[in-house]
Amino acid sequence: MEYTLVRRRGQKKLRMHFDKEGVLVVSCPPGVPQAEIDRFINDNENWIDEQRGKIQKHDMDTGDRILYFGKQYDLVTINSAKDAMQIMDPMFVVYTTNPAPGHVKRIVQENLARLLYEFSRERVDHWCGILSLPKPALQVGQASGKWGCCYKSRRLIRISLMTVALDASLADMICLHEVCHLVHANHSAEFWALMRSVMPDLESRKRALSRLSGSVDFRNLYS
Ligand SMILES: [Zn+2]
Repeated sequence: MEYTLVRRRGQKKLRMHFDKEGVLVVSCPPGVPQAEIDRFINDNENWIDEQRGKIQKHDMDTGDRILYFGKQYDLVTINSAKDAMQIMDPMFVVYTTNPAPGHVKRIVQENLARLLYEFSRERVDHWCGILSLPKPALQVGQASGKWGCCYKSRRLIRISLMTVALDASLADMICLHEVCHLVHANHSAEFWALMRSVMPDLESRKRALSRLSGSVDFRNLYS
């Protein structure tokens, strides 16, 4: 567990808090041994996890980072007469009529949804062309739960907003996955064989996605 340790003369007890950057700060009297500090952190693990969850879910503001197609961008907000967003690598610039972080977050979500829609529309149509399938309706859904879902009888594919955080090759795999559900509404051997027939490196992409899923809390990124 990462934290900053501060030893303070005059302090009687061990304490901890999160600073403005979201870093855990543990403070204690000068002579406290490391074993006692470790125990203190262990005993408060639940509280630490809970606070970390809150910090990850917080609204967006200048200094936050945006994960967009596998790359980190710095969020910069600028007051403006009109709401807009512009990607100026390495910055994500949000022009906002209202500096409240909740409003900035909505601008980010709307723009990411539009960009993900454009990406997914192109990829879904591409795969439908290759598999000789009529193009389905497409939506970008909330950034929670599954990466995508396919309503076969309605011929509707929904891609989750959290997919916009993935590397393009992995986001493309999500698109193909849902397109293949237009043929097989299950995860049968035939389903995977169909996916693999047009994406020969499927297994390495699947491995990359499960590795990433273990290290990034995608559900909380844009929800
Ligand atoms: Zn599936």
